[in-house]
Amino acid sequence: MVRILDTTLREGEQAPGVFFPLHAKEMAATALDALGVDFIEAGHPVAGREIAEAVKRLAGMDLRAKIVAHSRCSLSDVSAAAASGAGCVGIFLCVSDSRLDKVFRMSLPQALEAIEESVSRARELLPDALIRFTPEDTVRSEWDNVLEACRTAVLAGADVISVADTTGYMIPGVRSMGRYVNDLRDALERRGLAPMLAAHCHNDRGLALANALDAYQAGVDILDASILGLGERAGIVDLATLMTVLAADFGEGEHWDLDRLPDLYALVERHAGVSVPSFFPVIGKDVFRHSAGVHANAVIQNPEHYQSLDPGLVGREMEIALGGMSGASSVRWALSRMGIDSPDDELVSEVVRFVKIFGRKGRDVTSEDLLRVVQWCEGRPSKS
Ligand SMILES: [Zn+2]
Repeated sequence: MVRILDTTLREGEQAPGVFFPLHAKEMAATALDALGVDFIEAGHPVAGREIAEAVKRLAGMDLRAKIVAHSRCSLSDVSAAAASGAGCVGIFLCVSDSRLDKVFRMSLPQALEAIEESVSRARELLPDALIRFTPEDTVRSEWDNVLEACRTAVLAGADVISVADTTGYMIPGVRSMGRYVNDLRDALERRGLAPMLAAHCHNDRGLALANALDAYQAGVDILDASILGLGERAGIVDLATLMTVLAADFGEGEHWDLDRLPDLYALVERHAGVSVPSFFPVIGKDVFRHSAGVHANAVIQNPEHYQSLDPGLVGREMEIALGGMSGASSVRWALSRMGIDSPDDELVSEVVRFVKIFGRKGRDVTSEDLLRVVQWCEGRPSKS
């Protein structure tokens, strides 16, 4: 059973212009916990007083999900993360030669010393917490550096190693996240080490979900995601899509309550100031709506003709859109939803005519529009 880490409140808040006030973080954390995620990454306490306060507040909410505090590889960051009372501390450091040399101005041995010191301190301050170490930009860093960093972190007390595709570089079958996870697991096992492995996939090439599933099939223990995929640049894996695919196609998530996803997304949409596109998988308003007459006719017989996902999985229903492409089947379906089960052919053809006029003006016909059209048709003197 894979575990899900939601990082909307940490990674998501790194998306330009996104800021969640404390009450929104509390509501989101409550909703994420009820949804069934295992970890809620709440923020990086040293990034600001408000963030530190929020991490502390969430850690004190007594949720089933573990709260994760982010921390650079430094004793002051680790102390702040520990002081938040979080049940998990995520420590990160990029160990690529170029970053060590140009950004951190330290040698690999110095980096390993910093990792050892930070992870040990976290372990000492929080004996019961889960400690995660992330060699940031794992997949583009020198393999030997990553391996040494992971070995050092695990020996110092890290429970989880996160494989980070920080720049969305991986491609299934070409530069495979799954293969990387397997290689790292094997290399650590040969050294007698067996930490849990996590995958953090960015979406720069639009492949975050594919790479996360690649890692999942390699047996990764934890997958990171965020609501709407919010995060740095192109963001990361979208939470709703990931959980829905894992539930629908891989038998995961017996304890997940995916019906809660639409309300959770509406909450984050409101506070993040980011609109969910109508075609956004699983959540968008149109993703279970059928428009063209041919499609509508087929799904009215059997939804699976044009749906491979059951909308009921996320508490939604199939819908038929009325517009310029609609035909009689769509209109009969919409009328039956209004309680008009056996409309005469004349009413149907009149409604189709109106619906097409609406559609040609680029309008989506709402149920209120339809009711007005029906009332107008029924109020007219009969032709016969
Ligand atoms: Zn990230």
